[in-house]
Amino acid sequence: MYDVEKIRQDFPILREKVGGKPLVYLDSAATSQKPKEVIDAVSNFYLKSNANVARGLHRLGEEATRQYEEVRFKVKDFINARSEREVLFTKNTTEAANMVLYGWGMKNIKEGDRIVTTIMEHHSNFVPWQQLARMKKAKLDVIDIDADGKLKEDELEKIMGAKFVAVSAASNVLGTLNDVKKICKLARDSGAVSLVDGAQSVPSMKTDVRDIGCDFLAFSGHKMLAPFGTGALYGKEEILQAMDPFLYGSEMIHKVTVEESTWNDLPHRFEAGTPVVAETIGLGVAIDYMKKLGMDNVKRHKEDVTAYALKRLGEVNGVKIIGPKNAHERAGLVAFELEKVHPHDVAAILDDSGIAIRSGHHCAMPLHLRLDIPASSRASFHVYTKKEEIDALITGLEKVKMVFGA
Ligand code: PMP
Repeated sequence: MYDVEKIRQDFPILREKVGGKPLVYLDSAATSQKPKEVIDAVSNFYLKSNANVARGLHRLGEEATRQYEEVRFKVKDFINARSEREVLFTKNTTEAANMVLYGWGMKNIKEGDRIVTTIMEHHSNFVPWQQLARMKKAKLDVIDIDADGKLKEDELEKIMGAKFVAVSAASNVLGTLNDVKKICKLARDSGAVSLVDGAQSVPSMKTDVRDIGCDFLAFSGHKMLAPFGTGALYGKEEILQAMDPFLYGSEMIHKVTVEESTWNDLPHRFEAGTPVVAETIGLGVAIDYMKKLGMDNVKRHKEDVTAYALKRLGEVNGVKIIGPKNAHERAGLVAFELEKVHPHDVAAILDDSGIAIRSGHHCAMPLHLRLDIPASSRASFHVYTKKEEIDALITGLEKVKMVFGA
């Protein structure tokens, strides 16, 4: 049985008070909280194993390298990549997308080519492709959404004849789960390279890059119980082999003379400079933690909490929910508008009650423009979210309505 109270014991911050009130953390889509095991792994590294990786021949350096590289195998297994050479460590999803832009896009996208993305993307999976199109005089085609916040089926045709397709597996505003397997197949059939933004999906459900059939997948560690500064870009080995490095210097080289340089093997060719070693070891522990919970259980729990949030929010007069109505069509988040109250005011008043939600455009301005709203409020959930916290949100919203006479 999924015991949320027991799980909450593993997250020390959930015992904190904010402004004298118990913390109700409903902003996990921005970043998740971290279990003590992860926090301990980071401090233990500094206490016992701190040394740079892939450099020193001393024992401490070798131990640090061993622990660090072990995480690459954990990521590989977690997303079912074929080999650890297909896992490049990055700071986050944004850096991973930019690595594809500079390493693959600048070399392969030519004038007149078409790049396809969607209107629901986070800026990190939108602006890189918009800029790539601008730099290369290519065309950016954007798949629209229907009234329910799902991608319009007939617009998937835009993928035909495209050179590159970038789509999120889960929207950070609508919550919509996209059929990335189908989209990547359409891309493959049309000879396009595909990138899946897994920032919201990898922390929410089982991810299998081979089943999805994507060429690239990007995700951030900090949204899946791991420290900031961790993340990965998965890339198919043959594509990575043909890709240019994005950053030069340090251990990404094979040989350097005054005249020229040659590059290290995969994956280190793409990892210039000293990495975030302790944090990456923390990522490994976060993966172990998620696996222990079981990704199917994580998915079920998030869906359960989301269904409850959809129901309770739906009962509040003046609340308009954005995105699909069914929890099983969503990642664990619900964005909404409250009539007559700006989302920033909603968030500020909820904060007085110790409730943390996010308000604004959530780095998805094209989507908000499309929906013709300046901003929205968003409650988002994780492995430790309990239904009582949704009840607290609803009570908080009633208070907001009272303050604003809404
Ligand atoms: N894509 C999506 C769908 C996201 O939700 C986020 C984070 N909000 C990102 C990309 C960017 O992630 P990061 O800031 O960790 O690079």
